[in-house]
Amino acid sequence: MKRIILSTLLTLTMFNLFGQKKSDTNKSEYKFKEAENTACFVCDHVLSKQRPILYVAHDKEDGSWQFLCGQDDHTEASAKIISLKNATVIDTTINDLYEMPLGVGAERKFASSGVDA
Ligand SMILES: [Zn+2]
Repeated sequence: MKRIILSTLLTLTMFNLFGQKKSDTNKSEYKFKEAENTACFVCDHVLSKQRPILYVAHDKEDGSWQFLCGQDDHTEASAKIISLKNATVIDTTINDLYEMPLGVGAERKFASSGVDA
């Protein structure tokens, strides 16, 4: 009986070790200098994860961030305001843009599209 418990513990420990790295990369990261509750604009496609974030802008007027799908089919109702922290939870890769200066917009295209390359 004791032996079974031991091996169960061992398995759990190993699972944790292996899971560690995975959870580190999957864990929500937050690199931005701004407060986590900084308001940012997303479109409803991004919010609902229907589409990836392909357009990012850092407004030089008020310092606000925009994370949009980059397509043109938006109405006023498409604009949603969430916290910057929430945006990084939707897509952790936007953390890479934390040093993006004010007044700069960035567009990215996924390699899978292969059309514009
Ligand atoms: Zn959109």
